[in-house]
Amino acid sequence: MNKHSIFQKIIKKEIQANILYQDKIVTAFDDIYPKAPVHILIIPNNIIKTANDINIKNKSIIAHMFFIAVQIAKEKKISQDGYKIIVNCNKHGGQKIDHLHMHLLGGAKLKALY
Ligand code: 5GP
Repeated sequence: MNKHSIFQKIIKKEIQANILYQDKIVTAFDDIYPKAPVHILIIPNNIIKTANDINIKNKSIIAHMFFIAVQIAKEKKISQDGYKIIVNCNKHGGQKIDHLHMHLLGGAKLKALY
């Protein structure tokens, strides 16, 4: 199994993940190695490899991912205290899986990156 296919297999429920939300456009599930008390990944169902691959045709998917991330933050009751939404891109950004994903992180005071 290559790294490329892990998230696609989660979408298709071919490998186990704690899926919190799924619709025709996005899937959200718990990160397997959480870096915060709440660490959820929001991904597009149709693969967009990296942020560099956002284009005029698919850009509305990103708005939907962001919207769902905020809805989940509210459901998890972390929205008042706050959270981070992070998208890593390529090698310097620390992206390890070639399927665009938003990290929703919260539930504790998180370190600033800068
Ligand atoms: P990246 O470093 O590419 O921005 O983030 C990839 C994330 O995917 C990491 O936080 C990692 O813990 C998570 N991850 C990797 N493999 C799996 C998996 O098989 N299942 C789940 N739920 N998360 C995974």
